[in-house]
Amino acid sequence: MIPIALPLLGDDEAEAAREAVLSGWVSQGPQVAAFERDFAALVGAPYACAVSNCTTALHLALAALDIGPGDEVITASHSFIATANCVRYCGATPIFVDIDPDTYNIDPNRVAEAITSRTRAIIVVHQMGMPCDLAALVTIADRHGIALIEDAACAAGSQIRMNGGWDRIGKPHGRIACFSFHPRKVITTGEGGMLTTSDPELDRKFRLLRQHGMSVPDTVRHGSPQVIFEDYLAVGFNYRMTDIQAAVGRKQLAKLPDIVGRRRAIASRYAELLGNIEGLSLPFEPEWARSNWQSYCVRLPSRADQRTVMQKMLDQGIATRRGIMCSHREPPYADGKHRHDLRRSELAQDQSILLPIYAQMTEGDQVRVATSLRAYLGR
Ligand SMILES: *Cc1c(COP(=O)(O)O)cnc(C)c1O
Repeated sequence: MIPIALPLLGDDEAEAAREAVLSGWVSQGPQVAAFERDFAALVGAPYACAVSNCTTALHLALAALDIGPGDEVITASHSFIATANCVRYCGATPIFVDIDPDTYNIDPNRVAEAITSRTRAIIVVHQMGMPCDLAALVTIADRHGIALIEDAACAAGSQIRMNGGWDRIGKPHGRIACFSFHPRKVITTGEGGMLTTSDPELDRKFRLLRQHGMSVPDTVRHGSPQVIFEDYLAVGFNYRMTDIQAAVGRKQLAKLPDIVGRRRAIASRYAELLGNIEGLSLPFEPEWARSNWQSYCVRLPSRADQRTVMQKMLDQGIATRRGIMCSHREPPYADGKHRHDLRRSELAQDQSILLPIYAQMTEGDQVRVATSLRAYLGR
């Protein structure tokens, strides 16, 4: 069986988890602080704050910006549902706009058209690890004085050319970027998330809200020779990462450049193997973007039925997934009230499939995937 994804975890991570367990401090503590420093240094962010997953990171991003009822947040429907759900958690309204059909990323023109006097934030997604058009989106957000949040759940290790140089996603371009360390992403801590920003006040709010609004974290109380009484300054949450996860995350982070290098090689081999199948569209990487290839998405020829292709491949021991979902088609959002045309998002969901990709994937496995797809689609 060729799986859709497989984390690259080994003895390094197992040993790090063991050491964290035996250290006597297993919840948010010194390993979390070290993971934050490592992550901030790698992506080039002044501040990084670790949390329990990317969904909670997105929620904290909106909460720290005081987004609430009556506010509109422009985002993509064509994303994992957590992107929309975090807006609802705050009582605000997600305003879905369509994507660019080639990159599957939010279309900056559609974002500009959707701005109203109620728009408080824009959540852009680096879908499947492919950077979205940040230069255009930052310009739009700045022009209107609206906060730009990057849902970078899939984009650890992706790069974008900004102002002439290559930056890692997470270096602050918008106000806040949010990452996931779920096993479906390129590096994992089992569950985990991270927020980066250049704004010390936002970082302070993330830290307050991730642990119950507590004025003094337990690490400080624990190390203090004086008795300290803490206050609870806001209605916060328990969105902490554990030191066991962070210890694993530090090992994963050290491997990130290697993992991304391998995935880029796999993506270019797929491009060779699948290049000449009539009507099959391969992923498009703009010249200003370097994807980490979290997913490899192909658009099927119109003659092919998505479910049938996926079933044929599964029968041959190859797992695939359909294209990225559209939130506006799911019950919590399917009230038909969305204002903007989302046809490109719907077509992308219905016509695309994700092929297996993981760092340790062999050339033989890739040939099997390509042969299977080719056998069904023909030349
Ligand atoms: C995976 C994902 C999330 C959610 O991440 P979790 O860490 O699982 O909460 C959010 N947005 C996008 C685009 C994702 O792919």
